[in-house]
Amino acid sequence: MHDLIIKGASVYDGSGKAPVQANVAIEEGRIVAVGDDAGAAREVVQADGLALMPGIIDTHTHYDAQITWDPLVNPSPSLGVTTVVMGNCGFTIAPCRPADRDLVMRNLTHVEGMSLDALRSGIDWSFESFPQYLDQLERRGVGPNVACFVGHSSVRTFVMRDDAAKRAATPDEVAQMRALVVEGMQVGACGFSTTRNTQHNGEAGIPMPSRLADEQELIALSGSLKESGRGVLMMTKDSLTPMPLIEKLAQSAGRPYLVAALLHSDVMPESTFEDLAHIDAARGRGNRLYGAVSACPLTFEFTLHEPYVFEGLKVWQPLMKMDPPALKKTLADPAFRRSVKDELSVRARRMFNGDWQKMFVTQAAQEQNKRFEGNCIEDLAREAGKHPLDFMLDLSLSEGLDTLFTGTLLNSDEDAVGRMLRDPNSIVSLSDAGAHLTFLCDAGFGLHLLGHWSRDLQALSTEHAVRKLTAEPAALFGIRDRGAIAPGKCADLLLFDPAVVGRGSRSAFSICPPAARGSLRRDLECTVFG
Ligand SMILES: [Zn+2]
Repeated sequence: MHDLIIKGASVYDGSGKAPVQANVAIEEGRIVAVGDDAGAAREVVQADGLALMPGIIDTHTHYDAQITWDPLVNPSPSLGVTTVVMGNCGFTIAPCRPADRDLVMRNLTHVEGMSLDALRSGIDWSFESFPQYLDQLERRGVGPNVACFVGHSSVRTFVMRDDAAKRAATPDEVAQMRALVVEGMQVGACGFSTTRNTQHNGEAGIPMPSRLADEQELIALSGSLKESGRGVLMMTKDSLTPMPLIEKLAQSAGRPYLVAALLHSDVMPESTFEDLAHIDAARGRGNRLYGAVSACPLTFEFTLHEPYVFEGLKVWQPLMKMDPPALKKTLADPAFRRSVKDELSVRARRMFNGDWQKMFVTQAAQEQNKRFEGNCIEDLAREAGKHPLDFMLDLSLSEGLDTLFTGTLLNSDEDAVGRMLRDPNSIVSLSDAGAHLTFLCDAGFGLHLLGHWSRDLQALSTEHAVRKLTAEPAALFGIRDRGAIAPGKCADLLLFDPAVVGRGSRSAFSICPPAARGSLRRDLECTVFG
């Protein structure tokens, strides 16, 4: 007698093969039979008309802090995710000395848009080392399956303390960091993660520590995976990070390298394809590079108190250190505005490139400005006879910087994104779940791939989409027994209705009234605090 049988669903087994009508029997958390006759069970789910696939594997999350107070890592499981990879971009919370906790929380607040209050009241700091952190998670139990990178910025802070975000490391410090990475791999980390992205700044605009690493440090730390003989390397790069450097790191470790974040930019439309071409060529040379791509347009909601979207601009760096009066004064300064316009006039693959038709007023703080809501800055500026930047800053200043703006900044060209999703060397990823809570929530990326990209746009078949969400990331991360429906595999399963699957207001965002993303933010914080 089995525990459970799911009967009559179209079974997508994760391999990319066309679905078959079958019964799937489960015992003690494992699939024991797939076929016409699966025997008897204590519980039967009649699933005619529905589709059954392996649970989604989300390879780019930032649940490291949240999981210590919310083991279920809401909202991912309700969006079909059964496995999360945490610690991306090098931002973990372990290892961490007690004296550095406040700095780590402040940095996360800035770089990943997490609420400082939530981190302060939520994180359970009963650990100091990376092994202790994993022990703590295991002891307390977690909802989904969890894999965790050793994060570069964390090991750097642990070894270099206050100097971590200031200078290159000495050979002795590199050796200490390397020992921490090796230790993490020994106790079960899934790899080593880092960032070079100039968008990644901590409190007061100080670069996140890993950005200070020189090539020797990167080679030493990445290369430590060679000793482990397992694990994945991941880096969030920007357009200035040379692909040959990443290939060199992959080669020195002999391990797969996941290159993030390949988001399509209208301003430099070929650049992600150049990266993908380099990745393909690297594989031809025996170096296993993969490109992390996203199924979601990158949409940010923000105020000018902390405009993450502008913080990749060089001229914006000093503003991150300013108190509110100094910030307002600078935003009003014509010389500052000129320097922003100058920098924007030079094309680069950055988050915002002056595409004002994609920047909207979402919520005005004052009654007389409500008429601007829902309009793009480009149109509003034209009507006002101003440069779009001036219009935006003037409006925001007139409302004490409380105006809420939304920018659809990257990944909005659907032909291009479709090509990237189909690329054989791409991994569908980048949900950033658990992070940027004040700006966006893409934790439902998998349902979006199935509904929007596969069913609605037919950019890829459902069996292909399922493979992208399951077997491919499982193979990359060496996650055994998951990402497939077959006898002996873990019963991580997602049953869905192909006719309606998606992340619209009725499914993925059911916790969010359809009207405003702002309410999603509030709901998420409620969820966080339970
Ligand atoms: Zn990230």
